[in-house]
Amino acid sequence: MSAGAVIVGAGEAGVGAAFALRAAGYAGPVTLIGGEAELPYERPPLSKDVLGGGALKPIRAEADYAAAGITLLRGRTVRRVRREAREIAFEDGGGLGYDRLLLATGAAPRRLQVPGAEAGPVHTLRDAADAFALRAAIEPGMRVAIIGGGLIGLEVAAAARGRGAAVTVLEAGPRLLGRGVPAELAAILAVAHRSNGVRLCTSCSLAEIVWRDGVADLRSADGSGTLADLVVAAIGVAPRTELAAAAGLAVDNGIAVDAELRTSDAAILAAGDCCSFPHPLFGGRRLRLESWQNAQELGQLAALNLTGGRQAVSHVPWMWSDQYALGLQVAGLPAAGAATVARHHGGDRLTLFHLGADGRLVGASGLGPGNSVARDIAIARRLIGARAAPDAAYLADPSASLKALLSLLPAAAG
Ligand code: FAD
Ligand code: NAP
Repeated sequence: MSAGAVIVGAGEAGVGAAFALRAAGYAGPVTLIGGEAELPYERPPLSKDVLGGGALKPIRAEADYAAAGITLLRGRTVRRVRREAREIAFEDGGGLGYDRLLLATGAAPRRLQVPGAEAGPVHTLRDAADAFALRAAIEPGMRVAIIGGGLIGLEVAAAARGRGAAVTVLEAGPRLLGRGVPAELAAILAVAHRSNGVRLCTSCSLAEIVWRDGVADLRSADGSGTLADLVVAAIGVAPRTELAAAAGLAVDNGIAVDAELRTSDAAILAAGDCCSFPHPLFGGRRLRLESWQNAQELGQLAALNLTGGRQAVSHVPWMWSDQYALGLQVAGLPAAGAATVARHHGGDRLTLFHLGADGRLVGASGLGPGNSVARDIAIARRLIGARAAPDAAYLADPSASLKALLSLLPAAAG
């Protein structure tokens, strides 16, 4: 009997891959191994509903695993991959053979490196335990300092304001959301945070934390200080590559895979936040993306290619963030653009189109109340995927139908 497919990491990519293996007709054993004790859950709500008091949202109902013939091992950590024997070894003893292996190990928060960071409690937010600990710790009126003005830092800031805390965000870069979100949209979000009472400090490079009687004094390089009862570090993540590296697989800003998600060992694939891959849509540029949609798409693709498929990555990257009443969406790669065209809709809604040097649409981003930019961005995703080069003046005109541009695409692309 076949040793079957083994998936290490029961997050968005791993769970999606397990079910997609069955959908692709794979009949062998499927074992999904997760280091966390919980039934696999969605991460995006952690910094939104869960911090606000809500429950975890399972990715799939518990009964679905048994119904699909997927063996889910929870709270089991894989310590080693023995490629020559085609087996994995568990931290708590024992092992399991595989025919095909998928590494979907995600990412882990970067730790603060400044003096004093280890001398008191510094929260991070990646998993359910982190979210519950942070939720329990935030009290009305308390001073919360968030280090890092990226997506997590800002979502936590909004949630902490919602719980009545006094919030300061310390960002080392010259502006918020320096990674992947255009400056124009970050500026609007900065206004929203300030008008909701958040103190924002950009170009604020933390030099040291001094703890006195449970209070943190966060000293910046310019000599200024911020006092806080609770400290959150949201300074980015590092891909979890330790298993792959110890097994001798190539690592390059994540587990290095080809466009079909194969590692340097053809029996082992990788998917999700943990891997970097060349994206054909962007000239084969090697990307490592950290978003829910990317984890889903790569999980599905990995399942297909684990069962004999030969398909290359083709999805248009997409992510969203919710802060207060505003919804942010980013598609494609705005940073790959040479020019930006703004479509002002009036009110708080703005959509930006990012055009490459050749006029091709390579990215789109939008911010507005609730879900108001979703439609524009959904259309832009299709245009980006079709390598369309729409007219800049047309894109800028809010009365011009974006949907009409789709009808100009070749049938297969539209
Ligand atoms: P993960 O979800 O990290 O799953 C990896 C799993 O592998 C983990 O459970 C880990 O414990 C396990 N694992 C690792 N090593 C081992 C091992 N050796 N043995 C066993 N198990 C192991 N994206 C958006 O697009 N929009 C959002 O609004 C958004 N909000 C977010 C909010 C938060 C708080 C966080 C943390 C992320 C958010 N994201 C959002 C990003 C998105 O959730 C991630 O990109 C996505 O979850 C990545 O999925 P993954 O399966 O690659 O990794
Ligand atoms: P992030 O978006 O990479 O932002 C981290 C920010 O912290 C960056 O602006 C970084 O600046 C700054 N920083 C780094 N070191 C610092 C220091 N010592 N002092 C002050 N600022 C510092 O990472 P994140 O917000 O921690 O998010 C982590 C993960 O969760 C990512 O994978 C993210 O995609 C995911 N997530 C996604 C969403 C979403 O899509 N809505 C929401 C939440 C979380 P530099 O760039 O200059 O280093």
